[in-house]
Amino acid sequence: MINVTKPFLPPLEKYQEYVSGIWKRNWVTNHGPLVSELELQLKSYLEVPHLLYLSNGTLAIQVAIKALELHDEIITTPFSYVATTSSIVWEGCTPVFVDIDPQTLNIDPSKIESAITSKTTGILATHVFGNPCDVEAIGAIAKKHGLKVIYDAAHCFGTTYQGRSIFHYGDISTSSFHATKIFHTGEGGAVFTTDPKMLKVMSYLRNFGHETPTEFAMVGINAKCSELHAAMGLCVLPYMDEILKRRKELALHYDKILEGLAVHRQKIQPGAVPNHSYYPIIFRSTQALEASIAALNKFNIYPRRYFFPSLDTLNYVHSAPCPISRDIASKILCLPLYHDLSIEEADYIARLLLREQNN
Ligand SMILES: *Cc1c(COP(=O)(O)O)cnc(C)c1O
Repeated sequence: MINVTKPFLPPLEKYQEYVSGIWKRNWVTNHGPLVSELELQLKSYLEVPHLLYLSNGTLAIQVAIKALELHDEIITTPFSYVATTSSIVWEGCTPVFVDIDPQTLNIDPSKIESAITSKTTGILATHVFGNPCDVEAIGAIAKKHGLKVIYDAAHCFGTTYQGRSIFHYGDISTSSFHATKIFHTGEGGAVFTTDPKMLKVMSYLRNFGHETPTEFAMVGINAKCSELHAAMGLCVLPYMDEILKRRKELALHYDKILEGLAVHRQKIQPGAVPNHSYYPIIFRSTQALEASIAALNKFNIYPRRYFFPSLDTLNYVHSAPCPISRDIASKILCLPLYHDLSIEEADYIARLLLREQNN
């Protein structure tokens, strides 16, 4: 069986070494030495000034919304994972969807201003499949209207824009280190900011608002990660260069062998170096998409309809419909892409897709 993704697992012995240390110290969670070490190593690997390691990418978005004190309306994209929208609603805010650019699949900045009202407090946009949003255009609009910007950068580990990590952008960027993501700690996530004051606020939010064991600075939540999770991250991080390189090879190979397939692809933002976290293809019709899925499923290959459905169709949101996002969501497929997918397996998948098209 070939699934859309497969978590990268480091050598077991290496993980066991870290676990032995945890047993020795008898320090399992609450900002232990492995969490601190992982935060340091991530800062150095990504060349970012600040980050906080959190328990998952969804809490990272919720902590960011809380830290920036967003309320009322948040402008957001309908083409993302459900956590982007559900976090807005969970925080008591209202998502206002702005349709996407059909080429980049990111929120269309030219449509943002007409969605701003007196109740708008922020913009929450996703860098879809690791492809950076038009951060200059979004930044300029936010500045003009006094709005805060959060980027859901869950797909972006290793993506750079203008030569530096995309996590630099926005008032806060968030990421996910879930097992299916390109860098992972089993479950996990992070918030990034260049503002030390924001960092301080988010560190309170992550840990119940504790100032000291008996004093509380503000309302908080538990968004801490355990030493066991940090150990996984410390084992995976040394492989990241190799993982990014391998994914690029596989993606370029797919490009070559699927040249004759009648699909279109996401346009990468100029100035960006993507991380090939996914391999999305957009079919001409839902019918062509479904026929291709069936053809692959017959041979135990399970690609994934990602993102589907378009989030403006969720039963708990009320917003203007987004026809472009709905259209793309109805035709897009992510092909299997993971570290130990072989060239032969990619060739096999491509042959099945081309055969189905020529049927
Ligand atoms: C995975 C993902 C999340 C949620 O991250 P978790 O760590 O699973 O909570 C949020 N947004 C996007 C775009 C994602 O892909």
